[in-house]
Amino acid sequence: MAGLLAVRVLTDHFDRVTLVERDRFPAGAAFRPGVAQSRHLHVLWTRGLELMEDLFPGLEQTLLGAGAEDIGVPSDLLWLTSAGWRKRFEVTRLLTFSRPLLDWAVHSRLAGDAALSLDVLEDNEVTGLLTRGPDVAGVALRSGETIAADLVVDTTGRGSRAPAWLAALGYPAPPETLVDPLLGYASRYYAVPDGFDPGWKALYLQADPPATRRTGGLFPQEGGRWICSLSGAGRDYGPTEENAFLDFAKGLRDPVLYEAIRDAEPLSPITGFRRTANHRRHYERLPAWPRGFVVMGDATCAFNPIYGQGMSVAALSAMALDRCLREDRDDAERRFQRRAARSAAGAWLVATGEDLRYRETEAAPTRLTTRVINAYVDRVVAAANVDRHVCASLLDVLALTSAPASLFSPAVLARVAASGLRRPTER
Ligand SMILES: Cc1cc2nc3c(=O)[nH]c(=O)nc-3n(C[C@H](O)[C@H](O)[C@H](O)COP(=O)(O)OP(=O)(O)OC[C@H]3O[C@@H](n4cnc5c(N)ncnc54)[C@H](O)[C@@H]3O)c2cc1C
Repeated sequence: MAGLLAVRVLTDHFDRVTLVERDRFPAGAAFRPGVAQSRHLHVLWTRGLELMEDLFPGLEQTLLGAGAEDIGVPSDLLWLTSAGWRKRFEVTRLLTFSRPLLDWAVHSRLAGDAALSLDVLEDNEVTGLLTRGPDVAGVALRSGETIAADLVVDTTGRGSRAPAWLAALGYPAPPETLVDPLLGYASRYYAVPDGFDPGWKALYLQADPPATRRTGGLFPQEGGRWICSLSGAGRDYGPTEENAFLDFAKGLRDPVLYEAIRDAEPLSPITGFRRTANHRRHYERLPAWPRGFVVMGDATCAFNPIYGQGMSVAALSAMALDRCLREDRDDAERRFQRRAARSAAGAWLVATGEDLRYRETEAAPTRLTTRVINAYVDRVVAAANVDRHVCASLLDVLALTSAPASLFSPAVLARVAASGLRRPTER
């Protein structure tokens, strides 16, 4: 996704853009191995969708036309937070669809636009960088070809080899931060039963760390399907075996998800995914940086996916790339790495702040400030369950529309203080 969004931006700045992809792009909304995570629940928050719509006007209509569901949040979402059930206010809306549908919608817009000067090299692979002194001058491919380029954008995801490529050019390794909640997903598609109408369209049952570590999501997708993603932190991984999957669902903090899927018709095998650590490579801190090269998307900052931020942060980074190239070509690469780091900062704080609540999380020792902030966030979550305005502020932060600091504004502080720790217990 980071690559596709970057390509769209680059076509505005360069005469010719080449997209190199290891896979072949499928003809429709289908799975491909390079996006193995696409068999799991993907939520695209409002900010991410807005930015993608800016890049591809009409994208939202394409998704809706292909069967994406438009759900009210939390009005159509039965949401068990760490502090109890959230009242079903109408605060915002979300489109829900499968990840392959989004990938197809974006890719087909790029591939189908004859006005874009774009070459797509599929079933090929970047194996290294071409260099000119200390700078990057293009890429070498698995096929033996080389491509000369003014700018190379690495969007190869968590497996990016940029640190090794940079080391070969004489640059130091980027400092890295790892916050690993040891979390694993297991997911399966189901047919939504005929006439199913319990008064909600989607379910999200969160863990309450450190006491409980399991989360379950059941969201509608195009084609009359649900995707059910179960995840557990602290090595309590979502299981891929049939009975264990149902047992795990039964062990969530409320049986509603289990009761929904128990008799529903499975449409797919159960698949697992465990590469979920929060992992940041701080390219923005390197004292020197080559011209002609940038790194974006999961390759520079990957999140525990349970908070649904990766694609939206990729969209923010694509916009940052656009701004940097518009401002001044000189030194745009370094400015981009700094801006991309800033674009990811809020999401990083949310994801790691939450993950540090699990006892098993592997990370540097938790600071006192994190514990104090988390104690306040507990109060915000409890207040958001009963107060529509606090709920809207919290959703703005989760949806990356506002910075986490906005939760400390006087208006939110006052409402949080006024609502106390009331916990609505009814669904
Ligand atoms: C289980 C799970 C659930 C998730 N849920 C959400 C969610 O709800 N919401 C959300 O916003 N995000 C979610 N994410 C994160 C999201 O999937 C990523 O942040 C998003 O895909 C952006 O990643 P990317 O494009 O940087 O890298 P990737 O998606 O990893 O894509 C990398 C691409 O590079 C290609 N590639 C790799 N190496 C090479 C090479 N050497 N040469 C050529 N091509 C190469 C791959 O084939 C692939 O196409 C989830 C992630 C996981 C694991």
